[in-house]
This record gives sequence, structure tokens and C-alpha cells, in this order.
Amino acid sequence: MTDTFRFKADDEPGRLAALHRYGILDSAPEKEFNDIVALVKSIFSIQYAAVSLIDVDRQWIKAAAGMDPQQCAREDSFCTYTIRSSRPLSVESTSTDPRFMHNPFVTGEAHIRSYLGAPLMTPDGYNIGALCVFGTEPRVFTDGDKEILMNFAKVVVSQIELRQAANRDSLTGAMTRRNFENQMDDIFSGNLPASLILLDIDHFKSINDTFGHPAGDLALKEVVACLTKCIRRGDCIGRLGGEEFGILLPQATGDTAMIMADRLRTTVMEEPLAALDHRPITISLGVAERESDEAAEEWIKRADLALYQAKQTGRNKAVQMLGLVAAV
Ligand code: GH3
Ligand code: MG
Ligand code: MG
Repeated sequence: MTDTFRFKADDEPGRLAALHRYGILDSAPEKEFNDIVALVKSIFSIQYAAVSLIDVDRQWIKAAAGMDPQQCAREDSFCTYTIRSSRPLSVESTSTDPRFMHNPFVTGEAHIRSYLGAPLMTPDGYNIGALCVFGTEPRVFTDGDKEILMNFAKVVVSQIELRQAANRDSLTGAMTRRNFENQMDDIFSGNLPASLILLDIDHFKSINDTFGHPAGDLALKEVVACLTKCIRRGDCIGRLGGEEFGILLPQATGDTAMIMADRLRTTVMEEPLAALDHRPITISLGVAERESDEAAEEWIKRADLALYQAKQTGRNKAVQMLGLVAAV
């Protein structure tokens, strides 16, 4: 199969969904990507190299060499043209190219005169961004240059895939336990307010016994999709064990988290799961608001105790466990 055959050119919603699935937009700088752009910049002996990702209406830079990563409007982006094709885009003189001669990066201080971009095509055929080099002098890019950049673009996509495998559970798409714990560490290092929900699917063993393990797998996927629809932007879901999940709600008080927990509970209960012949499924949830200066283990322990209580007192419910400070 050739790249061109796999390339999905006219599916912008699918392309955006593919990009957003990677959860890479607005992520912190990562050495692996910085190393690639530094290497590409030196191979091309050019001022700038970047990995750019094209969101709905902005270009976001994952890594840059020769400049600080900064986002810009999509309409001002060169790479937004690159992602329209499965082939590299070469602009040898921006000031004479009608597509770019009025671009602020050409007319303004940046004074960009040449650009070569290779699309970052995902294994399912979506161009989520581009690996590009650009400079302040007009330049002819050879076929060899284009091939080198296309090959490095494949390395970037492999790195994005590897990152995804380490961070996302392959069955449900939830964060892996390790990634979820890293998110919790960020809350701790900033001593930020947050609440934690731990949830466990009720009687999941009997679901497996009745419908079979593959249907159980599908049900897990459907439950996570259902939870994901309910949470706010900035909240995150991690798969902490087989059918146990954590939801981290930055800035949320315990009472806000309880409202969310109850919404999650009713939404899951009311969602007919295709995997289980539309039989309802229920979840139990434990909620704990982080107390300032509380150790991570204590916080998790309180949420876990709350979940245990929810199970002990009948399941299909949310219970909040107050901390020492809130309880007095
Ligand atoms: P409770 O209401 O007390 O939580 O009952 P339960 O049956 O859900 O609890 P238990 O911990 O006894 O069983 C969890 C089950 O989840 C057992 C295990 O086989 C199943 N499970 C764990 N991971 C997976 C998975 O990835 N796929 C499937 N299909 N089942 C899984
Ligand atoms: Mg269970
Ligand atoms: Mg369990």
C-alpha cells in the first residue's frame, strides 16, 4: 500500500479527532522531539526546524530548534498547506509565492524566505502536522532534501506513537496508571487544589461470566467513552487496574467532585451498552478533595476508603470522604 492510497485528505473532523486522541497539544517539551529538530536543523544547515501540529484554528509547536516554540493562527501557518498533501511542500522563495507573499512571517520581522515541510501522517492516514525547516534566505530544496525530511517525519510519527503507548491504555484510551500518577505529581509539586474520584465497575466478574471476556473488554471501552463525555476539559481519566479508574479534577472542591461523581454514575447507568445487549451497568465511586499539605498516599487512601464504603453500602453510589481539616 502506498502512502497516497492510505492518505485521508478530506476528512477534517477525523483528522482533528486523530490529533486530539494523542493528547499531545499543549504538552510540556520533551527531549526526544527536541533532539530530532536539533538534528534536522544541523543536517539542513538552516536557521529553523520545528514539529508543528495543526489544530482547529491554530498551529501549535511541539518542538523547535533555532527559536522558542510559539503557537500562531492557523491562517498564518505554512504547515497548514503541507498537511493537504501526502508529499512534501517546498517553497523556494516565499516572497514570490502568491500563497505566502503576504504572510506576516514573510513580510514581518521573521523574514522567512524558504520553507520545506513534510507531513506527519498517522498510521491511520491523517496528517496531524508537519516537520519543517525554514530560513531567511531563498533556497532550492533537492529531491534528496525532500526524502531526508520525509524520513525524519516518519521518525517523529513513531515517537508520537511510542509516547501514546506509554501514556494511554491501549484498550480504553484512558491514561495509563503511570501517566495518571504523573498528573497527580504535578498537582503536588504545585500544591494545587484538586479532587480525586476513584471508581470501580460493579459486579464486573459476573459480566465477564455472562457475556464473555471480549464483550467485557468492549464494555470497558464503552464505559470510558461515556465517562470521557462527562468530564470537563482539564480533568483526566486513568485506568488504575482492570475495571478500576481514577478521575483527577484540578481546582474542584469535594462538593463539586461529588456532583460530577453522581453525574458519572447516572450517565453510565443510563447508557445502554451495545457490548452487553443493552443491559445496564453500574459503578461505585469514592471522592476525596485534596487537603493542602496532605501526602499523596493519604489523599488516595481517603478516596479508596470512600469507594470501599460505596461498595459496602450497596454499590451504584458515590461516597465522599472528608479529610481531617474539613471534618472538624
Ligand atoms: P465489585 O462490584 O465488588 O467490584 O465486583 P467485581 O466482580 O467487579 O470485582 P472483582 O474485583 O472481583 O472482579 C473484577 C473483574 O474484572 C475480574 C476480572 O476478570 C475483570 N477484569 C479485569 N480486567 C479486565 C479486562 O481488561 N477485560 C475484561 N473483560 N475483564 C477484566
Ligand atoms: Mg468491580
Ligand atoms: Mg475491582
